[in-house]
Amino acid sequence: MKEVEMICIQCPLGCKIKVQLDDDNKVLDISGFTCKSGKEYAMQEVTDPHRVITTSIKVIDGKCELVSVKTNKPVPKRLIPSIMDIIKNSSIHAPVGLNQVVISNIANSGADIITTKEVDKL
Ligand code: SF4
Repeated sequence: MKEVEMICIQCPLGCKIKVQLDDDNKVLDISGFTCKSGKEYAMQEVTDPHRVITTSIKVIDGKCELVSVKTNKPVPKRLIPSIMDIIKNSSIHAPVGLNQVVISNIANSGADIITTKEVDKL
């Protein structure tokens, strides 16, 4: 059996959550959460952690060569290498708008890659 400790990042309270796992990483017990959302967060962190990805993508014919982008929701950490490969090999034509969808459902994650900045055309 092992125990994992984490700080819940779902709200500013930052509850300290403990998860007990058996040798096959099956969850035996979760404690320290204050609400259902925290319990769900802890369960996901130990079984299939998710993160928002922030990076940048090439811009063609723009005043900047790159524009910052992010996933519009957290994606499974296990998909991050595939997602980064797709972004690295992609580009977008200027002009670029704010919150523009660049790639839909990237790596079948259910998340879109959206811009976080505008770039004017040259
Ligand atoms: S467990 Fe609930 S109350 Fe505590 S930090 Fe997480 S979301 Fe906030």
